[in-house]
Amino acid sequence: MLKEYEVIDVKKIKNDFPILNRKINGKQIVYLDNAATTQKPLQVIKAIENYYMNFNANVHRGVYTLAEEATMEYEESRKRVAKFINARSYEEIIFVRNSTEALNLIAYAWGRKNINENDRILITQMEHHSNIVPWQILVKEKKAKLDYIGLTEDGLLNQEDFYKIDKPLKVFSFTHVSNTLGTINPVSKLVKMAHETGALAIIDGAQSVPHMPINVKEIDCDFMVFSGHKMLGPMGIGVLYAKKEILEEMDPFLTGGEMIKEVDFYESTWNELPWKYEAGTPNVEGGIGLGEAIKYLENIGMDRIREHEKKLVKEALEILSEIKGLQIYGPREPEIKGGVIAFNVEGVHAHDVASILDQEAVEIRAGHHCAKLVMKKYNVPAMARASFYLYNDSEEIQRLKEAILLVKKIFNV
Ligand code: PMP
Repeated sequence: MLKEYEVIDVKKIKNDFPILNRKINGKQIVYLDNAATTQKPLQVIKAIENYYMNFNANVHRGVYTLAEEATMEYEESRKRVAKFINARSYEEIIFVRNSTEALNLIAYAWGRKNINENDRILITQMEHHSNIVPWQILVKEKKAKLDYIGLTEDGLLNQEDFYKIDKPLKVFSFTHVSNTLGTINPVSKLVKMAHETGALAIIDGAQSVPHMPINVKEIDCDFMVFSGHKMLGPMGIGVLYAKKEILEEMDPFLTGGEMIKEVDFYESTWNELPWKYEAGTPNVEGGIGLGEAIKYLENIGMDRIREHEKKLVKEALEILSEIKGLQIYGPREPEIKGGVIAFNVEGVHAHDVASILDQEAVEIRAGHHCAKLVMKKYNVPAMARASFYLYNDSEEIQRLKEAILLVKKIFNV
């Protein structure tokens, strides 16, 4: 029976994650690095084991039972992903390795065909490096222009910048949720702004798709990318969503097996969507594992997961705000903050904070979080970051607080 303030049954959920039983330095693990990757439930681990134990074969090729079963499961997962984000059809779901590969695919395949000299690409200062570097390279190659939307002091996008930059734009690519500041950007509004200037809207959903209900049809973005490993799925499987008409117009990214229809001596033609963009043997276990992860998330409900994280963040912000000398970055309103809190303890390097927390079995990340432009904004080399998911609870926030107090004690700050 859930207590009144509980949105989901965390105790029950924890039982599905064997790794959360681990002890580190004799203490029960508190895993708070979910923005980097999440843990995997038994259901996902078993689905992968079942694939290798019972129907491992290469997909799309064989006409024998194992190959047909593997293909069916893999393609069922694709349909599940499509439904999960409300895509129009499975044809709009391309399996890739991760968000980084998906963004590179867009910059290479769409970008090289459509970006010309002096065209403008807009990104934001909040981006993960994977939504910066591919555009920098494209812009250099094509003699195009790269512009940025900056940040306000409290870690929001400075939307006024949008109106100051030269138009028209060809691309506006932005993150849905910041992996450092936790900021939830108003994506529908940003997509509309992009479309009004004639630009395509690309959303980095790496930190949103795992944590809240997503409806790509309603948001109306042209592309969205996300990573399976950040949503209870295995490593090495990610998703590129794109509107069908764009995928039809674009040329392939990687070429070779699987992605062709006909091959002749000097010419080839391309496979149907989505396989036109999936060259070579795919990550079948990854696809199957991701499908199972989505089943797990759907059983709990994405709206409830979001509510749970909102409560955790509210509670954590209240508790951590009481600690003297703790600098917290990003917005303070849980309504516009995902389950990510970046902070620094005054006078202590973030790596020392993370090391001491590890001695207390509180596992957080420290560093630039692949968001060096965010570090520049706040003029710090690094931040410590605690990030939550559906299996975290209030007790763990208390453990985080006590471990931070220990850091202050050890460093006498
Ligand atoms: N974008 C954001 C916002 C992220 O948080 C991450 C992962 N930290 C990525 C992109 C890249 O994800 P991956 O490493 O799975 O490609």
